[in-house]
Amino acid sequence: MELACLDLEGVLIPEIWIGFAEKTGIEELRATTRDIPDYDVLMKQRLRILSEHNLGLPDIQEVIASMSPLEGAYDFVCWLKERFQLIILSDTFYEFSQPLMRQLDFPTLFCHRLIADDNGAIVDYKLRQKDPKRQCVIAFHGLNYRVIAAGDSYNDTTMLGEADAGILFKAPANVIEEFPQFPAVHSYEELKQEFIKASERDLSL
Ligand SMILES: [Mg+2]
Repeated sequence: MELACLDLEGVLIPEIWIGFAEKTGIEELRATTRDIPDYDVLMKQRLRILSEHNLGLPDIQEVIASMSPLEGAYDFVCWLKERFQLIILSDTFYEFSQPLMRQLDFPTLFCHRLIADDNGAIVDYKLRQKDPKRQCVIAFHGLNYRVIAAGDSYNDTTMLGEADAGILFKAPANVIEEFPQFPAVHSYEELKQEFIKASERDLSL
């Protein structure tokens, strides 16, 4: 039994915070896990900036509703779902991802939650657990699944390491350099080939 685990932002959809930074012109909000590997430090910085600019969840959701998945992402997800049980493991939040997940036909998503007050101001966030992507792979192994995982950044590397096969997709040069043990590809066509290689089954059937 094999599962495919995919990161979301940078793999199937654009970085939500970068899209939001572009619309609002707030440069500081462009930082992602590619820049600040410690997710807690990164999120505290984001919430502080949002509060300083009086921006709440409705403002962010408005931007996200105007975004689209990466070109070819929908077809790739369809291809993968025909061959694997697909689970998206993301450090995004359910409150953010809904409009984009709809455009991908709502694959199963494990991520985090935001806590907003009655005025829509984001007051806190709730991470499901520490090192969540890796913990998912450990749990899937406990269920006797073999796991093939792909992601683009630092927050994916423990997941890739725990998986039976880990693949870097559209990763920046510094991540590829730091983690040479994972094959690194840049197109969905190449990513399909890596999944085919990593699978124990004959996927041409
Ligand atoms: Mg990512």
